[in-house]
Amino acid sequence: MKMNELPKYFKEIDNELWFEEVEVEKKNLKITYKINKCFSYSKSQYQEVALIDSAAFGPCLVLDGVMQTTSADGFIYNEMITHIPVLTHKNPRKVLVIGGGDCGAVRELSKYEDLETIDMVELDEVVTEECIKFLPEISGGSDFDKRINFKFGDGVEYVKSTDIKYDIIMVDSPDPEGPAKDLFGEEFYKNVKKTLNSDGVMVCQSESPMIHRNIIENTRSILKKNFKIVKTYIAFVPTYPGGLWSFTMASDVYDPSNMDVSKLPFETRYLTKNIAKSCFDLPNFISDLK
Ligand code: SAM
Repeated sequence: MKMNELPKYFKEIDNELWFEEVEVEKKNLKITYKINKCFSYSKSQYQEVALIDSAAFGPCLVLDGVMQTTSADGFIYNEMITHIPVLTHKNPRKVLVIGGGDCGAVRELSKYEDLETIDMVELDEVVTEECIKFLPEISGGSDFDKRINFKFGDGVEYVKSTDIKYDIIMVDSPDPEGPAKDLFGEEFYKNVKKTLNSDGVMVCQSESPMIHRNIIENTRSILKKNFKIVKTYIAFVPTYPGGLWSFTMASDVYDPSNMDVSKLPFETRYLTKNIAKSCFDLPNFISDLK
C-alpha cells in the first residue's frame, strides 16, 4: 500500500515504514513497530482495520491504531482467556465468545471435544474476514470446527436479548473505546449474568495492572455486585502496553483454586498445569487492587 493511503499512525522514518501505537487510556506512552509490509487497510462500518507484517512480531491485527494480536505472542492471550475458565467449570457444554474477531479464542475452544456449541458474537465481520486471509497463525485460516457459529453483531445487544443460556461467556474485547466501551459497563455484566446458567463462569480481559488499574478496579467492582466469586489472574503479553496483562473471572459456584488441570490434555505453548494454578497468585501491587 502507498504511504499516502495509510492513516497517520503509520510513519515513514529513514525510508522505513513504522507503526506507532499511542496507549489509548492515558495517551502518555507510544509503542513503535517496524513494518515489513501492510497487507491490507480498510475502514469498516465500525473501525479502521489493518493487517500488517511487523519485523519483530510477524503478521498482526491493528484496530483503530491499536495492536490487537500478533502471530508471535497471540497464543499467550488466547490460551489464557480460554483454558482458565474451561478448566474451572466442571462440565461446560455451551460457550459464548463476545468480540474475539481474530478467531484465536474459538480456535482454542474447539480443542475441547466435550463442548457442544461455540458461539462467537463479533461486531465487525471485516475483522474476521481479514484475519482469516492475513493472520492464519491466529485465526487458523478458513476451515472452522462445525461447532463454531459466527453471529456478527453487537455483544451488548446480544446478551440483552438472547434466550440462550451458556456455561461459559468469554469477553474478548479491545480496550474500552468506541463500540467496546459498553463491554466494560454495569448493564452489560448484568446481562452476561442473566445469559449464564446458574453455575456459569465468565471471564474478561481486564487490561494492564500497571497502566489501567482504574479499569481493573471498576470491572472487579461491577463483577462483585453480580457474582459470589471474582478472581483476577495475569499473563505476559509482550505487545500489550506494559507487557503484563490481566484477566478477571467470575462465577457463583466455581472457584478457580479448585480447577481440574488434568482436563488440559493437549499441547499448549504458554499455559502449563502449574501456570494455570499460579496465575492467580498475584504480586502485592496487583492483589492490593479492590
Ligand atoms: N485480544 C485482543 C485485545 O485484548 O486487544 C482483542 C481481540 S478481538 C480483535 C476484539 C474484537 O472485539 C474486535 O474484533 C472488535 O471488533 C470486537 N468488538 C468491539 N466492540 C464489540 C461489541 N460491542 N460487540 C462485539 N464485538 C465487539
